[in-house]
Amino acid sequence: MARYIFITGGVVSSLGKGLASAALGALLQARGYSVRLRKLDPYLNVDPGTMSPFEHGEVFVTDDGAETDLDLGHYERFTGVAARNTDSVSSGRVYSTVLEKERRGDYLGKTIQVIPHVTNEIKEFLHVGDDEVDFMLCEIGGTVGDIEGLPFFEAIRQFSQDKPRGQCIFMHLTLLPYLAASGELKTKPTQHSVKELRSIGIAPDVLVCRSEQPIPEKERAKIGLFCNVRKENVIAAYDLKSIYEAPLAYHREGLDQAVLDAFNIAPAPKPDLRRWDDVADRVFHPEGEVKIAIVGKYTQLEDAYKSIAEALTHGGMANRVKVKVEWVDAEVFDKEDAAPYLEGYHAILVPGGFGERGTEGKIKAAEFARTRKIPYLGICLGMQMAVIEAARNVAELPDAGSEEFDHEAGEKRFTPVVYHLKEWVQGNHKVARKVTDDKGGTMRLGAYTAVLDPDSKVAEVYGATTIEERHRHRYEVDIKYRDQLEACGLHFSGMSPDGKLPEIVEWKDHPWFIGVQYHPELKSKPFAPHPLFDGFVKAAKENSRLV
Ligand code: GLN
Repeated sequence: MARYIFITGGVVSSLGKGLASAALGALLQARGYSVRLRKLDPYLNVDPGTMSPFEHGEVFVTDDGAETDLDLGHYERFTGVAARNTDSVSSGRVYSTVLEKERRGDYLGKTIQVIPHVTNEIKEFLHVGDDEVDFMLCEIGGTVGDIEGLPFFEAIRQFSQDKPRGQCIFMHLTLLPYLAASGELKTKPTQHSVKELRSIGIAPDVLVCRSEQPIPEKERAKIGLFCNVRKENVIAAYDLKSIYEAPLAYHREGLDQAVLDAFNIAPAPKPDLRRWDDVADRVFHPEGEVKIAIVGKYTQLEDAYKSIAEALTHGGMANRVKVKVEWVDAEVFDKEDAAPYLEGYHAILVPGGFGERGTEGKIKAAEFARTRKIPYLGICLGMQMAVIEAARNVAELPDAGSEEFDHEAGEKRFTPVVYHLKEWVQGNHKVARKVTDDKGGTMRLGAYTAVLDPDSKVAEVYGATTIEERHRHRYEVDIKYRDQLEACGLHFSGMSPDGKLPEIVEWKDHPWFIGVQYHPELKSKPFAPHPLFDGFVKAAKENSRLV
């Protein structure tokens, strides 16, 4: 039976709970334990799939097709454990399950209440797979005291009572603000936050305190005393230059030891941190720099493309270069020449996206990369734009476009080289969709197999001819145009196993131009960079020697 670590936050949001949880997971692995990480989000959306990336950052997709919070991406990047549908839950999902059960009559006429019906549903979620790992790390989104979060806090309190003593611990993240005028770190907000937690019946075992300044022993002792936590379990979390330093930094501060002590695990197995030493070495000692443009729409918020930014960093680590990413707004050159905006980059990446806004600029970026022979990686929408560019400018289909944009505009303007996919095969069964379907959870989602042409750049990059990658899209390149485009040199180098869905395209006569219908960035890890990002950064590095 797994031991449970509940991770909560207080004082302010954005303290790095997700990163702390992920780093702790990595440290427990380094000590030989198996782990799984989970996120419980108090918002009322059923999942983040329908939330704007402006507001909520990217949507992370799991192999089994769940659209989840971007923290699950951190978990995977740090532990290498593939997240599942059952690792992410929101109030919205909990309530909709409870209400479905109520409608079915499952509650046999009882009055439905937050306690016990909602809390039981949350506890059930926590239990899934508890016989599979040594440690289950469950992060509660938001901060203690939020109205929406209360059922989750109540559920974890009950859960720890239901389990044998010593089976669950609570770790709480807070902030120690620094007052420059008096030169002091203030502990009061932390005290209040812990008080709030204790008032709902949860006593933290470990406190992780974010601080810009070193925490003096005296302050640590004071926090311990006032918050009823052992002094050794007051862990400092300082700002880091790279998130990939987090496991080593938390280990230095004694987080993993404190957690094992809280579980009374003695003697604790020694950690093997070589993986993270190597990662840190690669992050901090690059031997050069490449400049890569990400031509997108949600450029105001880096979190909208979190996994891509991280995967590029991993590609840099594999090639021992620092990847300097610049976010270029595609809309700016929708109607003008893209060259002045894109010259000087060693490679261009066009990421996924939805809606027509900015797509003319993305098409121009693909054209610029093709004609100037700049390495190009097109992801999902970025692949579709590369195909439209090829159709318009090389295959003489000047009206080529995506049905997505016609649907949005409510009129037919384009020859649909990219069309709305209504039927496809997943494993052994057929999936069917209509344009009028609900928006939530109805895309082609999750892991699908692609078969690669052995005589292609992409097969060389992967070193394989069968791959599995994660998808999240509604539209698809129409195979009807394959022959026409291939005759112009755009090679359809990866296809779905039934040969119906184009998964990868590449220009034959180009040093490195690959478009993929899936999201490779979701599977990249610092200790195992994704082959496409490794190859793309390598091509950028080679190009940097030429420009
Ligand atoms: N909007 C496109 C589609 O639905 C691309 C989606 C994406 O880039 N993730 O097919």
